[in-house]
Amino acid sequence: MLMTGREYLESIRDGRRIYIGDELVEDATTHPAFRNAAHSFAMIYDRKRAAENRDVMTVEEGGETFSAYFLLPRTREDLHRRFETHRRIASWTHGLLGRSPDNFPSYVSGLVMDPAMFDRIRPGFGDNIRNYYQHMRSNDIFASHTVTNPQGWRAAADGPKRTPPTLRVIAEDDRGVTINGLKMLGTASVFCHETWCGNLQPVAPGQEKESITCAVPLNAPGVSIWARKPYERYAESEFDNPLAARFDETDSAVLFENVNVPWERVFCHDNVEMSRAIYMRTPGHAMANHQANVRFLEKLNLIVGVAMKLAEMNNVRQIPAVQFTLGRLAAMQATLEGLILGQINAGEEQMPGYHTVNRRYVYAALHWCTNHHSEICDTVRELMGAGVFQMPADESVLHDPKLRETFETYWSVPGQSAKDRMKLFRLAWDLLGSDFAGRHMQYEKFYAGPGFVMNSYSYQSAPWQDWSGQVDDLMASYDAAPDKPRQ
Ligand SMILES: Cc1cc2nc3c(=O)[nH]c(=O)nc-3n(C[C@H](O)[C@H](O)[C@H](O)COP(=O)(O)OP(=O)(O)OC[C@H]3O[C@@H](n4cnc5c(N)ncnc54)[C@H](O)[C@@H]3O)c2cc1C
Repeated sequence: MLMTGREYLESIRDGRRIYIGDELVEDATTHPAFRNAAHSFAMIYDRKRAAENRDVMTVEEGGETFSAYFLLPRTREDLHRRFETHRRIASWTHGLLGRSPDNFPSYVSGLVMDPAMFDRIRPGFGDNIRNYYQHMRSNDIFASHTVTNPQGWRAAADGPKRTPPTLRVIAEDDRGVTINGLKMLGTASVFCHETWCGNLQPVAPGQEKESITCAVPLNAPGVSIWARKPYERYAESEFDNPLAARFDETDSAVLFENVNVPWERVFCHDNVEMSRAIYMRTPGHAMANHQANVRFLEKLNLIVGVAMKLAEMNNVRQIPAVQFTLGRLAAMQATLEGLILGQINAGEEQMPGYHTVNRRYVYAALHWCTNHHSEICDTVRELMGAGVFQMPADESVLHDPKLRETFETYWSVPGQSAKDRMKLFRLAWDLLGSDFAGRHMQYEKFYAGPGFVMNSYSYQSAPWQDWSGQVDDLMASYDAAPDKPRQ
């Protein structure tokens, strides 16, 4: 089943509890803090089933039609199909919706490739992952993932004084488990049907009850969503905050107070090692981060485009030093694009029978994105100069005919109206300098974990044996000549 945008909006009007501070939100699809972002997600639902996208964005199999981001890739062509699906979704949203509906299905598509691994955690969990994948795919489910724990409690080695607030199992019976506690950081949870709770960070022995990995509907009794400051609510207008006004996916802490989860939706329990390992021992982690790389590339295209427009608008594009800067940005864009295409062209068989993205190139791209985003933004801010602060406070100046005329007389330059200059500066600031942009700065640093973890992914997936073997071979090809007298 492929939902329409309207059906999607209807499906998240489900009585969920969302808090903005002390305000309980009745309906995210109409609330001024969330409605435009909800409609941006609805737009994705509509466009992916539209006639011009259907051949790429949907798959027909066994009489069923589903979104192509559930395609289990077996060939390079399949990988390319998935890439194009991610690319189109990211291009419709300019790479600003990090947890778009194609993100979590990429995890699940990798996890379902090894049901036997889940059965080894506990018999029956293999069927659970198969059924969950099928459920998501058949019902066009949009899921967030909350696989990080509240800060500050993790390293309480000297023994916490009270039970940590981290999500844990507090009871279990024939029907399932009861969970209690907090999970971070549910980007897009306000707009999702369900959240997948788990652990991408290591869980220490002794914390078995925290290893719980399960899927929970966001309107389940006991679940509440605690949103951070929503930038859409504070966007003055689309003209003044064109990105915050439409693409604030929001991040939320998700609280589970004595929530019952049936066994059918449990995938790991009482197993600290596998709680994290499920993502790495299957292609799940790499497939989801491939989506993230593609999404970043679309955002980078927007950033580089804005850089060029700023240089043109400020009449500095002809200056060699500015061309040098733009050329460097273009080279960086090409580096990432090449790294992503390499993930497809050098795909691998991590699981027998499947052809999945090259993990080393995914992790190299993740490392590249995490380490270069701030630097790229800083470069473009330099090109911007003080222009954004030379503009009037907001678009109201354009509503008053007299003020507008004065504004056009003094703020325009040959070939550019004052309004167009202001429009570009407003966009550039929302991308690089506003509250919304600041959140993106943090997102790109952290969404896949802190920076040092990016290095460890590359460390763990590198062919050290091959490289050190080459050193051994080289050293074995010569030796000291003990019998040879010194010349
Ligand atoms: C905007 C945004 C959106 C996010 N979306 C999601 C999401 O959708 N789902 C999800 O599950 N998570 C999400 N995250 C959470 C993200 O996964 C975490 O921020 C990340 O794992 C880091 O954890 P932390 O924030 O608890 O930082 P901490 O683990 O507290 O680390 C903070 C800093 O402490 C230092 N540090 C900590 N440990 C070490 C160490 N061992 N060695 C060296 N230095 C160390 C580093 O400087 C590190 O950056 C999101 C985060 C952000 C900012």
